Amino acid sequence: MKPNTDHNEALFERAKRFIPGGVNSPVRAFKAVGGTPRFVQRAQGAHFWDANGQRYIDYIGSWGPMILGHGHPAVLQAVQKALLEGFSFGAPTEREVELAEAIIHLVPSIEMLRLVSSGTEAGMSAIRLARGATGRSKFIKFEGCYHGHADALLVKAGSGLATFGNPTSAGVPPEVVRDTLVLEYNNVKQLEEAFALHGRELACLIIEPIAGNMNFVRASVPFMQRCRELCSQHGALLIFDEVMTGCRVALGSAQSVYAQSIPGFAPDMTVLGKVIGGGMPLAAFGGSRAVMEQLAPLGPVYQAGTLSGNPVATACGLATLQEITRPGFFEDLSRKTRALVDGLTGAARDAGVAFSADSEGGMFGFFLLDALPQNYTQVMKSDGARFNRLFHGLLERGVYLAPALYEAGFVSAAHSAQDIAETVGAAREVFQTLQKP
Ligand code: PMP
Repeated sequence: MKPNTDHNEALFERAKRFIPGGVNSPVRAFKAVGGTPRFVQRAQGAHFWDANGQRYIDYIGSWGPMILGHGHPAVLQAVQKALLEGFSFGAPTEREVELAEAIIHLVPSIEMLRLVSSGTEAGMSAIRLARGATGRSKFIKFEGCYHGHADALLVKAGSGLATFGNPTSAGVPPEVVRDTLVLEYNNVKQLEEAFALHGRELACLIIEPIAGNMNFVRASVPFMQRCRELCSQHGALLIFDEVMTGCRVALGSAQSVYAQSIPGFAPDMTVLGKVIGGGMPLAAFGGSRAVMEQLAPLGPVYQAGTLSGNPVATACGLATLQEITRPGFFEDLSRKTRALVDGLTGAARDAGVAFSADSEGGMFGFFLLDALPQNYTQVMKSDGARFNRLFHGLLERGVYLAPALYEAGFVSAAHSAQDIAETVGAAREVFQTLQKP
């Protein structure tokens, strides 16, 4: 029951007076689904509580980082210890070296890396480095993939293949995206045509290998193989944006999943964020030694950051990586996530609701569609109004999903069988109501 005073609503009104849209990142505003955002008061394990004291099972986990759940004791302890030692020095620390070593151990395609504070910074810097290292300007991205909000990446497809993209945000001048070529995800023919036309001018191709910014869409194995081959043939760098998938879909990240199907597969560069910081502002980009040595202070490509490699963030990231490296961690997480997806699929089937879902490791997605989509156009065929009813139905029942149909979901090690059963039970009720017009 709604309390007499809705503290979420009151906070939202207050926030809107001084913060554009009342939020510090747009998707939090519930614009796509309508209604009042929940203001989080505290979180523990797989749950958080809003300003009204209402509890939710959290399937966002800060949009991915909270793979252990909230307030994991080992992480809390590491962060508390680090806090007492100092928040920020602007000078190197041993912990940065340890974290770099730990990441490289998990993702062996990375020989060297640099730590930054957000996925946006990491993606932007990786593109700059690829351009600097190859001496080329153009690059490929795919429609539906998000790589942060750097100007050259806020771009959608132009009118034809030979034309480059158009800005998706006001304030991005057309000349800034002039060299960004936007292609359809999973479209091998278009990819081949683009390389045939522009191959010699391409610095890199950046891709979310499992695209979590159009819900959950896997790059097919033949498509990924072609990306790899064409980049190698034309001297363009293949950049995996694993900000979301990194240490989330598998310990070795999505690239280890593709390496199972494509022998010897590895990207040239990798962008990481979220899980490697365990919920603190931390991200990274890395690649081969030859490429990374082009970066300042060794090379001519400039990149820097006051808070880069922050001692509290690195402590949090290290403690998180230590936990997820424990034997059986990913097997358990994958099993749990699969149980959720299977439960939701069964509940939808019983209610006669069109539904398709997929997961890898602790990341999942579902669509109110009969079959899993392969690209952004197909994702956008989902019925937004029905998704919104499902979203609000679950929210009322204490289940918190991403408030937009083009976002992925995340399960943590803290989700219990009980949490998953409650979620599936709630979905079963809501699916019944979706039948009605
Ligand atoms: N790349 C991907 C794949 C992402 O999902 C995100 C954020 N969701 C980013 C980059 C940008 O990261 P940040 O929000 O930390 O800037």
